Amino acid sequence: QKYVYTWGAAKADGDGSMKNLLGGKGANLAEMTRIGLPVPPGFTITTEVCTYYYANKRTYPPSLQAQLEAGVKNMEKIMGYKFGDASNFPLLVAVRSGARDSMPGMMDTILNLGLNDQTVLALVKATKNERFAWDCYRRFIQMYGDVVLGVQKKEGEDHEPFETVIEKFKHDTYHKDIVDSDLTAADQQELVKRFKALVKERTGKVFPNDPWDQLRGAAGAVFGSWMNDRAIVYRRKYNIPSEWGTAVNVQAMVYGNTGDTSGSGVAFTRNPANGVNEFYGEFLINAQGEDVVAGVRTPEPVLKLKDVMPKSYAELLKVRATLEKHFKDVQDIEFTIQEGKLFMLQTRNGKRTAAAGLKFAADMVREKLITWETAVLRNPADQLEQLLAPIFDLSEVKKAKVIATGLPAGPGAATGKIYFNADRSVIAAEKGEKVLLVRVETSPEDLRGMIAAEGILTARGGVSSHAALVARQMGKVCVCGAAGVQIDYDAKTATIDGQVFKEGDFLSIDGTSGTVYAGQIKTAPSEIISGLISDDKEAQKTEKFKNYVQLMKWCSQATKLSVRTNADTPEQARQAIAFGAVGIGLVRTEHMFFEGDRIDAMREMILADNLADRETALAKLLPYQRDDFFGIFKALKGFPATVRFLDPPLHEFLPHAKEQQMDLARKLNIPVEKIMHRVHELHEFNPMLGFRGCRLGIKYPEITRMQARAVLEAAADATKAGFKAKPEIMIPLVGFKKELDLQVAIVHEVAAQVQKEKKVKIAYSVGTMIEIPRGALTADEIAQTAEFFSFGTNDLTQTCLGMSRDDSGSFLGAYTENEIVKKNPFASIDQTGVGQLVKIACEKGNQTRPGIKLGICGEHGGDPDSVKFCHKVGLTYVSCSPYRVPVARLAAAQAAI
Ligand code: PEP
Ligand code: MG
Repeated sequence: QKYVYTWGAAKADGDGSMKNLLGGKGANLAEMTRIGLPVPPGFTITTEVCTYYYANKRTYPPSLQAQLEAGVKNMEKIMGYKFGDASNFPLLVAVRSGARDSMPGMMDTILNLGLNDQTVLALVKATKNERFAWDCYRRFIQMYGDVVLGVQKKEGEDHEPFETVIEKFKHDTYHKDIVDSDLTAADQQELVKRFKALVKERTGKVFPNDPWDQLRGAAGAVFGSWMNDRAIVYRRKYNIPSEWGTAVNVQAMVYGNTGDTSGSGVAFTRNPANGVNEFYGEFLINAQGEDVVAGVRTPEPVLKLKDVMPKSYAELLKVRATLEKHFKDVQDIEFTIQEGKLFMLQTRNGKRTAAAGLKFAADMVREKLITWETAVLRNPADQLEQLLAPIFDLSEVKKAKVIATGLPAGPGAATGKIYFNADRSVIAAEKGEKVLLVRVETSPEDLRGMIAAEGILTARGGVSSHAALVARQMGKVCVCGAAGVQIDYDAKTATIDGQVFKEGDFLSIDGTSGTVYAGQIKTAPSEIISGLISDDKEAQKTEKFKNYVQLMKWCSQATKLSVRTNADTPEQARQAIAFGAVGIGLVRTEHMFFEGDRIDAMREMILADNLADRETALAKLLPYQRDDFFGIFKALKGFPATVRFLDPPLHEFLPHAKEQQMDLARKLNIPVEKIMHRVHELHEFNPMLGFRGCRLGIKYPEITRMQARAVLEAAADATKAGFKAKPEIMIPLVGFKKELDLQVAIVHEVAAQVQKEKKVKIAYSVGTMIEIPRGALTADEIAQTAEFFSFGTNDLTQTCLGMSRDDSGSFLGAYTENEIVKKNPFASIDQTGVGQLVKIACEKGNQTRPGIKLGICGEHGGDPDSVKFCHKVGLTYVSCSPYRVPVARLAAAQAAI
């Protein structure tokens, strides 16, 4: 079996399509080599070796060694150097991890591997640069000691142990602070000695001198890092399966640190924050690539390269164009210039904000680089919500005080209490506080805190620092490199513009402009929301709004599945229609009684213990409902509305607190004891499986009669007023055909009466929810009565999994952690289990009633993966909350392309 794929000198074993096997980095290095770009030679150890490694007690396949040797030979041939050569310039390599997608938490780079006590002397001789050679060796021992041998900070230590050795050396030797670049070759040589002693002291082992031992050790560290905590946290957040594994890339070193004609940089072919078509990135003269991303020295904008190295800059611009043309997407690149010669070390599709992604896609269709279908596929549906996220309220922000500026690294507006440490941010966020994570610079250790925070502010680091990339991808607001922010971790304070802010004080940041404000600032809706919902003309002129509208036009062109909304009020219906919904898929009629005094009438109805009392209460409810329905039909402008009859889980509606009970007793003018008694009588151990849904109407048909009358009278009135009401009456929680028959008979009976009374024909239909496994399994019988099905996947999930939707929070975390379920099944449909019930019901429904209208109205209707599943099984529509309508439309279009 082939475990090692080489590349170099315009030839490569692999190519860009082989990301699963070679990881993203390895596949693209092969691809760049193939298209003739200057890539130092190297090879990839495949992800299958990672899988083997974990399946076989952390050992390697026996045939690997020979393949590694062949890989190294290939590099040696191209470079003209030998690995481990102690007499001539030795071949040194960089070792990097490479999963399918780049992943924070994975082992970083080890540079200069291959140096030892002999080869370092050869390097001195070949370069005649003693300082450079020993500096490389010193750095190598430090990186290798840290990530491979685990010489790291222990509990109670303030600094990295290698840094402590350096500090002590400087102090002992120079008795003052000097910078690293002042260290002489002899100093570096001494540090090498001390570093090795440190390794021996901490690990009990001698630092490996044999380059082959070094290489195997480094590969093992990459594979080992696949299972470290940070990588696991990241995978969980992004639902990356642990089986994927990582690849290892070994590449011949090129040196950006040989002097002032060398340097390293990272860049995006277009601006990943706002989408503008401009070359965007940073570089450092006389530095290795790691120095740029580490955020230790603040780098220069890449455009400045034009002044200092015009030839390399021109070459880089050519590479930029070639890459975009070839990969047909914005690329994120790493490069090194060694003595005026350009080398490409990496390319990948650039991570981007939702706004930038939207602009890239729109621009690239215009530039004829991609088709509109590709543009639709390029915008991740779940990221679309970022575009709808709030911005600062314009009038408030004018009054706010700007106290610092930094780089705009993740757009949007965030306001919150500041915390200086990831763990404390998590705790505060769990308490419901809005948190801003404020750090000197963020490192992968801060990931949990970044996830918990509304926004991230750093004092140091560029727009391509790891922190900025991660923030952008998560859609977090981020301002980085705000040099005016001075942080004291021990005192838990930030001094900005002469003002001291303590932990828990409010700050606000604008990640679109890079501005930091004192205090709390009110946020306002995004231009897209203002343009769509409030018909704001200014907002409609913005490029963001126009690009969004264009994207949605393309979506409509592609979509088969239509998108409705779950709405209980005319206002919600109007919003959803502005977002492009084509009707209501679920009105939860019990929700119409949450407001004001209405809950009293509802409670009166629930608590009634005889028919007469119940009918009195129902008579109070009827006009409320009729008016509401009228308003909804009016807002819908002829679009259909699925009205679901009462389904009040009793525990949500009963007055439990003593004051509520007293209050209700007063209003109803009955003794409180009577209410207490009735509440006690109605108490259920398992209310989610209790007296809910159609069970209510089966026992008390008068409830169904009242609701049918309210809907149908409103429809008749609306139709007369010219609004073309199309009610689809929906009976909940049906498991038996007979349940539905009884309820439907009542609806038809009332409909006949109302049509006669109002002298108007009403275009209504009656169907059912499929949300009980028995209903799904007997859907053929149920379809004899039901004119449509709507999948109530909240209850269907709860009943199929036997997991209470109200109580699963206490254990579901452990389920995702242990990968029993990939995602929360109440958020993203369990396609294998619940999905099977959906499929069965679709098939059986179609058998009885070919072409039966099929929808979904559970929470899953707004989840991109679930929407794609719904498309696959052939549903007619999905229904979700108004603000998720754009997300569902995009996902539906993507499913259809
Ligand atoms: C469902 O069960 O999926 C549903 C939409 O109904 P409810 O959430 O009101 O139970
Ligand atoms: Mg339900």
